[in-house]
Amino acid sequence: SRQFTRPLNDLANQFNMILSAVAGAERVFQVIDEKEEQEDDQSAKAVDGIRGEITFENVDFSYEEEQTTLSNIHFTVEAGQTVALVGPTGAGKTTIISLLSRFYDPDSGRILMDGIDMKEISRDNLRSQMGVVLQDATMFNTTIRENIRYGRLDASDADVEKAAKSARAHDFITRLPGGYDTVLDSDGKGVSHGQRQLLSIARAMIADPSFLILDEATSSIDTVTEMKINAGLAELMKGRTSFVIAHRLHTIGSADLILVMQDGKIIEKGNHRSLMEKEGQYASLILAQSTDNTG
Ligand code: ADP
Repeated sequence: SRQFTRPLNDLANQFNMILSAVAGAERVFQVIDEKEEQEDDQSAKAVDGIRGEITFENVDFSYEEEQTTLSNIHFTVEAGQTVALVGPTGAGKTTIISLLSRFYDPDSGRILMDGIDMKEISRDNLRSQMGVVLQDATMFNTTIRENIRYGRLDASDADVEKAAKSARAHDFITRLPGGYDTVLDSDGKGVSHGQRQLLSIARAMIADPSFLILDEATSSIDTVTEMKINAGLAELMKGRTSFVIAHRLHTIGSADLILVMQDGKIIEKGNHRSLMEKEGQYASLILAQSTDNTG
């Protein structure tokens, strides 16, 4: 079903900046700080060791006056759980992620991270604890080793390999003639789309973030690589609160909390089983999709 498939172009651009920040290129963030973002509150502080319990408390948000983008968004995700955001284009999924990353703040209501209002946490600190895996992962014109190390610049070569193994990227890397020293084009040529995702999982793994934002791939990837991506992501998500803009039934079905969105509202929430039992929008969406697949 086409309504689940839309790349997060704007957000991807913003998140390239996040990756840069992870790599210590704070300059990039200073640019947004000056041009687009408000200063952190005076009281904003660094909070280390975020566990990742996240609550949206009656959050309203509009990009422009007179047009409500999100209304009364209310949910809690426990530390370590996975939230799947589903719904048609324009429903507000990306906006939820943008608020979570503090590119914007709610007009009313609060977002709490481990019980602390996110406005009281400095943006840099928050983002340094956040991992991002997008479907079109940015690669840099350097070796695979350095591309992975980009997640944490002081990582050793052994750390890089360990992360690549957990991400299920090690096998394909070692089969390349240049191995970890293979130089990538900035557009990622030389490795497949799926392999690029494995590298981006390895990069997130090495950064060891407290919570994750994932934009699930929609493009078709060969079955073997897809299985590796699933395994790598499962490893990455283990013990970390994860927000997934989900396109695949497998991911949605196994999420702890599914938020079904439409027109800026959560119209249904729960896990797969409870939503199927409810026989509402979610159930009909799923039934329509499985008919698509078999038909
Ligand atoms: P989704 O990710 O579910 O497709 P979005 O969160 O991107 O939905 O969009 C929700 C609504 O907000 C849409 O109507 C969209 O047009 C609008 N919107 C998104 N980004 C902006 C922006 N930067 N400025 C104004 N409106 C926006």
